[in-house]
Amino acid sequence: MSRPGTRYPVDVVLHPGAVRTDWCPSCKAQTRCTAGLLLLTPDGVTAAGTWTWCEICNDPDSPLPARRIPRVLAPADRAA
Ligand SMILES: [Zn+2]
Repeated sequence: MSRPGTRYPVDVVLHPGAVRTDWCPSCKAQTRCTAGLLLLTPDGVTAAGTWTWCEICNDPDSPLPARRIPRVLAPADRAA
């Protein structure tokens, strides 16, 4: 069990590179964020891959709303 304030040596750190906007092939829009991932180790720096996230495709908190047309019936239509 660790005590608060105890520090441990970290040998490997995953560091995101600069984030830039990018073209999303699904949305066909400039809505994607792209960043290179760098792995920092005692032996040096290694490119570990690329991280992408689209504000439209990958946002689980704000899914696209269902397409509905709100319909309000007039009293004459309700009787029919
Ligand atoms: Zn997208």
